[in-house]
Amino acid sequence: MSETRVKFYRGTHGMGIVISVTYDSDRIIFDFGAPFTPLAQVYDGIVRQRETNRVKDAVLLGRIPEVGGVFARRNLQDLSLESYEDSPYHTAIFICHLHLDHMSEIDKVHPAIPVYIHEDGLKLQKTLEEIGWEKHYRDYSAFRHHETIEVGRIKVTPFFSDHPCPGSSGFLIETPDSVICYSGDIRFHGTQAEKAWKEIEEVSRKKIDLLIVDSTTTSPSEFLRDEALEQQYRIPGRDYLPGSLRVQDIYDGIEEQLKDFAGLGVVNCYPRDVRMLAELKQLAENIDRTMVFEPAYACILYKCLGIKSAVIWPDNDETHPYHEKLKREFPEVTAEQIVSHPENYLLQNSYRNILSLIDLDGLQGRYYHLLGEPLVEGMKEYGIMQNMIARLGWQFRSFINLYSFSHAYPNHLAELIRVINAKTVVAVHSKHPENLNPVNSEQFFPREGCQYVLKDGRLSESGK
Ligand SMILES: [Zn+2]
Repeated sequence: MSETRVKFYRGTHGMGIVISVTYDSDRIIFDFGAPFTPLAQVYDGIVRQRETNRVKDAVLLGRIPEVGGVFARRNLQDLSLESYEDSPYHTAIFICHLHLDHMSEIDKVHPAIPVYIHEDGLKLQKTLEEIGWEKHYRDYSAFRHHETIEVGRIKVTPFFSDHPCPGSSGFLIETPDSVICYSGDIRFHGTQAEKAWKEIEEVSRKKIDLLIVDSTTTSPSEFLRDEALEQQYRIPGRDYLPGSLRVQDIYDGIEEQLKDFAGLGVVNCYPRDVRMLAELKQLAENIDRTMVFEPAYACILYKCLGIKSAVIWPDNDETHPYHEKLKREFPEVTAEQIVSHPENYLLQNSYRNILSLIDLDGLQGRYYHLLGEPLVEGMKEYGIMQNMIARLGWQFRSFINLYSFSHAYPNHLAELIRVINAKTVVAVHSKHPENLNPVNSEQFFPREGCQYVLKDGRLSESGK
């Protein structure tokens, strides 16, 4: 019988979302990453990934749930999972953005299954491969916002979401009998919040049966809520409640602290959040400083957004073909130049090159940890980074709620649910989905690995 089926492989109690929507033998899967578990994951930077066994290892380690029909038989080896070759499904995979918890395992998918990424995300992926941070295992297909892709009888229309990674998207998924909206990771306090709200309003013009929504901030561990505001957070609205920092507030704060400061400003940001690289360069220009990037960051900013910047060359043995172009065409700034006029610079420094800061010892400095690596407090490396900055005598500044910072605040989340006005809502990307305020929808708590039929906006077990 033709019906829309939804299967939540993972993501109903945290990160690493893998969900399928099928109609007859057509199937789409959205997102394909491993959960972010910095304190528990085996690939800690020391343990090497095995090559011929990498698909089998990923399944056995639980980095990817047991999704049938997506891996090559020869890669599954002796695992009993259904192979691509044996699968009756016509499958395509859609990735909402290039953060690892959404896409770290896509390289393992059979090359005949298209994996769709937004064209801006694809530029980033290719750049990461070019600079040697990602290996090229397979090709990917590009999508654009508002351009529908048909996978048999399932239509997928990506829309803009203001998550910091280039090409971040949500998906409107239409089968012959149902309409599903998957928000992707979403926030409304970035520098394009207005555009993000407009997109949601546009999406809501369709009658949505099922909303699958990023509910990260429902977890007390990930959003440090002010208990006095508890009720206000639950009320749908677009305001910024006290303590709900906007990205622009962070930039304004840094600008304010650096504009009359005679010392150096240093930022540690995340290389996949390309817009932040551009915005930091703009921030530096606003206060008459030159933004200086490490070569890989400068290359990413140039390849993704066409913006050239000054480069500082770390003292290490890394050489890459892309360095040649940077050396020819991008202005160099040396540590000596920074030492003689620290007030002229805003320097990007990544943890892997933290020893470069030794050249700047003796300067006054302000170090801003802006969602860069190491990502979270509690990681061993985070302490090492803080110690190093303390030894330099610099101010270390981070911002609250960082872990959930790129996800919608609870009142915005409630507003999103109100506007979409779906019959059923399912919370994903949250450890505490039960804290969600479903507003005008009925919340459903699916079991992972169970297949549900979606009919008239209601999910029910299909028995399969
Ligand atoms: Zn995520």
